[in-house]
Amino acid sequence: MKALRFRRHWQVDLVDEPEPQPGPDEVVLEVDAVGICGSDVHGFAGITDRRSPGVVMGHEIGGRIVAGPGSGAGTVTVFPQLGCGTCDACTADLEQLCDSLRIIGVAPDRLGGFAERIPVPAANVVPMPGASAVTAALVEPYAVALNAVSRTPVAGKRVLVIGCGAIGQLVALAAARNGASVVYAYDVAPDRLAVAGKLGATVPEPADDLVPWIARTGGPVDVTLDAVGTDDSVAQALACTRPNGSVVEVGLGVPTVTLTLQQLVGRQRSLLGSYAYSRSIFERAARELTEGVPGVEVLVGAIVPLEEAASRLEALASGEDRSLRVEVSPSGRCLR
Ligand SMILES: [Zn+2]
Ligand SMILES: [Zn+2]
Repeated sequence: MKALRFRRHWQVDLVDEPEPQPGPDEVVLEVDAVGICGSDVHGFAGITDRRSPGVVMGHEIGGRIVAGPGSGAGTVTVFPQLGCGTCDACTADLEQLCDSLRIIGVAPDRLGGFAERIPVPAANVVPMPGASAVTAALVEPYAVALNAVSRTPVAGKRVLVIGCGAIGQLVALAAARNGASVVYAYDVAPDRLAVAGKLGATVPEPADDLVPWIARTGGPVDVTLDAVGTDDSVAQALACTRPNGSVVEVGLGVPTVTLTLQQLVGRQRSLLGSYAYSRSIFERAARELTEGVPGVEVLVGAIVPLEEAASRLEALASGEDRSLRVEVSPSGRCLR
């Protein structure tokens, strides 16, 4: 069977591998769809060191069980976090904060989704009866978004989302679905703003600057969710949020930012981080997407065969491919 191995920055190889054998309490999935995450692109291009040489990436997985309990039972997704199961974080449903957390598609000793078939612990399989694998592969990023909007109440609040990449779009959608009274979305790229507008967010005219736009559109918001994570976006997030309001950082654009402390302390704003998702939030994301989240399908720009994954990674990393989201179909079942 074929798998895509990351070798070094800017190089992945499509290789033949032995058929995966499930370990105890594991099943084998056929991977019908797997998302190329921004973190995969950054690891591939060496913008971050979040992917080690040798790894088979892919943590946004949709597929079917082909060996083990549940075979033939329809679409599933995979909760990709492997915590120790016993520490304070794991027992408090905060597995993403486990000190010995490993992630399928990041841990080099496990196969991620960029492979035709992969073994996964049966306990990490989440059924999505009737859903498409393309939708199942969206659960992971949607769970990231649900976690972000769970960090501070958004119901009845005026909410701003900075950055309209795939995560930002899902955060805006999640804020609206969780009762925000209005969701403003901002990005410098007009094509991404257009998608956010289509998904129901209030967006500026292209080329409008964020801070003055918010100032004349009802003034500072209650909650800002920053899906960029740079000096500029953090400064803008603070400037666009009312005194005593909250800023949630969900993007990790750069490892270090400088911020004007007066903007935080002097206006008593709260600055919160959001990392990944808990198991219960992941399961909620799977439930909601199984029932249907209107609009999400517009985020998937292309579905390509495993043979094309390497060239897509390159094109996404170089910026030549501006798709919000590309999914790969290792089994070929989801190609369109
Ligand atoms: Zn991801
Ligand atoms: Zn743990």
